[in-house]
Amino acid sequence: MACDAEGVLTLFNRATQEFHGLPPEPLPADRWAEHYDLYRADGATRLTREEVPLFRALRGERVQGVEIVIAPGRGPARTLLASGQAFQDDQGRTLGAVMSMHDITARKQAEAALRAAHEDLERRVAGRTAELARANEALRGADRRKDEFLATLAHELRNPLAPIRNAARLLAGSPGVVAEAGGEVEMIGRQTAHLARLVDDLMDVARINESKIELRRDVVELASIVGHAVEAVRPAAQARGHQLVVRPPDGPIRLEADPTRLEQVLGNLLTNAIKYTEAGGRITLEVGRDGDEAVILVRDTGIGIPPEKLPEVFELFAQVDHRSARAEGGLGIGLGLARSLVEMHGGSIAARSDGPGAGSEFEVRLPALPVARADRAGPRRDQGRVGGPSLPRRRILVVDDNADAAQSLAKLLSRLYGQEVRVAHDGPEALAILGAFRPEVVLLDIGMPGMDGHEVARAIRARPRGGEVVIAALTGWGQEGDRRRSREAGIDHHLVKPVDPDLLERFLAEIRTRPSTPSNQATS
Ligand code: ADP
Repeated sequence: MACDAEGVLTLFNRATQEFHGLPPEPLPADRWAEHYDLYRADGATRLTREEVPLFRALRGERVQGVEIVIAPGRGPARTLLASGQAFQDDQGRTLGAVMSMHDITARKQAEAALRAAHEDLERRVAGRTAELARANEALRGADRRKDEFLATLAHELRNPLAPIRNAARLLAGSPGVVAEAGGEVEMIGRQTAHLARLVDDLMDVARINESKIELRRDVVELASIVGHAVEAVRPAAQARGHQLVVRPPDGPIRLEADPTRLEQVLGNLLTNAIKYTEAGGRITLEVGRDGDEAVILVRDTGIGIPPEKLPEVFELFAQVDHRSARAEGGLGIGLGLARSLVEMHGGSIAARSDGPGAGSEFEVRLPALPVARADRAGPRRDQGRVGGPSLPRRRILVVDDNADAAQSLAKLLSRLYGQEVRVAHDGPEALAILGAFRPEVVLLDIGMPGMDGHEVARAIRARPRGGEVVIAALTGWGQEGDRRRSREAGIDHHLVKPVDPDLLERFLAEIRTRPSTPSNQATS
């Protein structure tokens, strides 16, 4: 379209005329508004006269691709791209302007639809993401509560287990009872040891999930770990009439490892081999070296594992449905725990089986120390089991508010291990006994009503010569934070209930009670 210097539209094509709804004759600028309204690109803000592209062109501006919205009297609003410029006569006087309008409504509508779809998609994605985050958070919460529950459950189970275990050991050491009911006493001992292992596993699963397990590494001789693990399961193997064959390595194999944890791993593998083999089977434990690695093989002649289940057996709570052997199943955590512990040691674990009825084989590989370095490190301090009679007789004070736990432990210590023992059932009683009895060792429960174990330990340490007594916490709580709190209260050792009576004996053989010098300070 074209206009004269006053903005009177003098020339327009048919399309413009129809589109704008213009009359055929020239249309003065002040009468445009009767036919259409002009807006900015937002479609809502009216253009001022100065902003109208045609007047901008008349003012000498070169207008190029300015987006405007036009709303004609009839028909829907449309978006246009306006370009144009003024033209002059020879003297440079402006005669008028030409404008071209390009209808981009369809493109704008497509763009808007695309943008709306995009925004809608983003909104929906954000909605789903938030939903997923909420579900995830709920799951994490449930998982956390499950771990807390497992830890609490294990702790609560430990309390009643401790006195039962002590009593079983006590009965096993009493010739009269053994003559009368030796089999039953052995059975109680075996089953409580099994229960204690299950409870430990439960506790560990909760702690592994929270990454709370720490290895206490030492230079250890693999043969001694294997020996302990085999001895622990021998009664169970005998009870099922299994033959237990141990093939030791040719030479010594030393590792930098947590002996208790490795015993636990082997114990789990051996217990499974015993459980999943029909009575009268053969279980072989073979230990060897393969280059830098120690290799431990646990093989059985048992019910085997179907090939498709092999990859799953190390998953937590995974159990192969053995049907007839169902009654033998456990909690489904033993192998998961074994794998975590082996991997924490930088090793690997694998399962093999030729299928149902063909027996199973588990292979553990662990990094071994080169022979020379291990030799320089010297033998382990706590090797070998110390026999009862060699325990020095000491004065031991047992402090525990659980009367069964306190009494059974006291009896165990005095009757089997020949110790001189007194019992206190709470903190004040312990402190009252302390002066006259002058114990060399205090075995101290931590969770007691009123004055707890930490307070008792602090009170003992605050007394004259209170630094001389060896204090060992005897508690259901075995996490690193619990050990730290014990140390901070001046406690020398932290034993977790239910303490294996043999371990307690070893502990008593190894601790050094202090020489009676008043200046002696607590160490750990
Ligand atoms: P569970 O407490 O059920 O024994 P584990 O984690 O120790 O849990 O073992 C997981 C599953 O692997 C077991 O339920 C069993 O089905 C299978 N399994 C483990 N060891 C053996 C084995 N020596 N022979 C056959 N199946 C085994």
